[in-house]
Amino acid sequence: MKQIQFEYKTKDLLLHDIKRVKQWCQQNISSAVTFEIYSEVLDKTAIDTICNAIKTEMPNAVYSGCTTNGNIMLGELSKNNVCIVCTVFEYPDTKVEVMQRRISEHNVLQVCKEAVEYVNSNSWIRSVEMLLTIRGLSTTELCSELSNIRSDVELFGGGAFSADIDETQAYVFSSDGECSNGAIVFRFLGGNDIHIRTWQISGWKTLGREHEVTRSDGKMLYELDGEPAFDVYYKYLNIENDRNFFRNSLEFPLIYKLGESKILRAPTGCSPDGALIMTGNIQEKTRVKMAYGDPETILRTVHSGGEEISKFQPQVIHLYSCAARRFFWGYMADTETKPFQSVAQTSGFYTSGEFLRKDTELIQHNVTLVVGAFREGDVVPGLENEVDMQGFHISKQVSLISRLANFVDISTAELEEANRKLERMAITDGLTGLLNRVKIQDDIIECIDKEKKDAALIMIDIDDFKQVNDTYGHDEGDDVLRGLSRSLNETVEKLGVKALIGRWGGEEFMVCITGKDSQNAKEIAEQLRIAFSEIEFEQAGHQTITAGVSIFRQGEASEQVCKRADDALYLGKRNGKNKVVVL
Ligand code: GH3
Ligand code: MG
Ligand code: MG
Repeated sequence: MKQIQFEYKTKDLLLHDIKRVKQWCQQNISSAVTFEIYSEVLDKTAIDTICNAIKTEMPNAVYSGCTTNGNIMLGELSKNNVCIVCTVFEYPDTKVEVMQRRISEHNVLQVCKEAVEYVNSNSWIRSVEMLLTIRGLSTTELCSELSNIRSDVELFGGGAFSADIDETQAYVFSSDGECSNGAIVFRFLGGNDIHIRTWQISGWKTLGREHEVTRSDGKMLYELDGEPAFDVYYKYLNIENDRNFFRNSLEFPLIYKLGESKILRAPTGCSPDGALIMTGNIQEKTRVKMAYGDPETILRTVHSGGEEISKFQPQVIHLYSCAARRFFWGYMADTETKPFQSVAQTSGFYTSGEFLRKDTELIQHNVTLVVGAFREGDVVPGLENEVDMQGFHISKQVSLISRLANFVDISTAELEEANRKLERMAITDGLTGLLNRVKIQDDIIECIDKEKKDAALIMIDIDDFKQVNDTYGHDEGDDVLRGLSRSLNETVEKLGVKALIGRWGGEEFMVCITGKDSQNAKEIAEQLRIAFSEIEFEQAGHQTITAGVSIFRQGEASEQVCKRADDALYLGKRNGKNKVVVL
């Protein structure tokens, strides 16, 4: 595989470059020639001129391109508006095709289905790269449909945009279609001798505690943990809701895991009521953390990613990098792209939606660098290129910010664990480990008063327990209490009954049976009574309980159901104890 990259300046210079390629192809063996054209500006005339020149001079060449948030040439952000990358494939079996379709919210599924069918029935295809106009599309639908492409195919790409972020138009075009502001181009590459692999590189790391997305709709993130989503940025980072919000929050996108993939979502704006407009969809119930990016940590990730890519020995690398990364680095954007050029010929563009499939699912990422690496032929042992970090020294010393972030992460984890312990303690009875009175009462209210579920209560009291204390001492009494708790748990489990068990007070217990089983509360209570009576305590020997049962009748308040159980228990005590009474 050979590649030349050139900037488009004039038609004459372009023709000169194309002729050079043509000449090379005539003198050497080549199987396919492709042109990728990237334009930072919506210059249809320039695009058409280039496309026509290729069509005229090299009618068999396959070309594709789009407008971008910035062009990457030889690993650097190009100063030229329009860039052209020409790749010549040398192995006879290598094959390239493009498919361009008009796409809108109405036909996304249909278009994707066609692409899926085509790829799945053409076993030569090894990778699918896509360029698409994103605005107005549901990329969730697009991603989920394209995920049906057979899993051995590398699937990645980027959205078409324009360097002017306020611009709503964007173009894609190819040898299979005209320049269009509502289209998708699929580049199919394959054959027996071509090897393609993809990488997801971000370098952003998690910071602090987890938050739950409690309200969102597509790209609108309304609430985190029930509070306006913006509050998180203000509370933890002191970022104000003003016109600098985008710039200030850029270093701190949100991050979450989906399967093995880490997904970043950055806010691009904030409404006055604190809703965040995100760069991609974010679903309700997702558990997100804040992420931070610092140059050193990012470059470390680029370095280790670059080393892995280098082992693959690519001849050509395609980068789909997020426009947010370009903003993040400012004039130093090349720092993280240039190292790839030391591995292989690197080209690509900045986008506001980079796509990559890892495992099975195609995902639209943000703030991420998607890398596609291509090689014709086999790996030659020992021929990996060094990753040249362009003067950036990867020291053994970890940066201060990543040490501080680690400090925050570990402190947060410790606090979370302490909180979980406190929460457990707040609802647990210390002696028996059962639910405590407050908790079981809350649960009963929830179940009966709020959800009005089928339920039954069994109120249990140990018979003549005072005597146990008086005769064998308080410790033995405690043992009996623990013995009853264990017995209740075991019996409920053995019967496979859905029940909540709590200590109601002193030597009184409450079992709340929910669901269909509640109709059998009397039999269940009987089993509980028998099981306990069979225990032999070290000193106290066999002891007994009395149980009062009440089944919830619709329309009743939980208080009334409790009262009936209590009355039933009282009756049981009066009528000789060691029995079950239902009221
Ligand atoms: P009845 O059959 O009518 O229920 O008689 P009883 O003796 O069980 O009832 P009473 O209410 O007179 O006595 C309950 C006793 O339970 C009194 C109290 O000292 C004891 N008790 C309450 N909590 C604990 C505890 O945590 N540990 C121990 N060992 N005893 C407790
Ligand atoms: Mg009692
Ligand atoms: Mg008692």
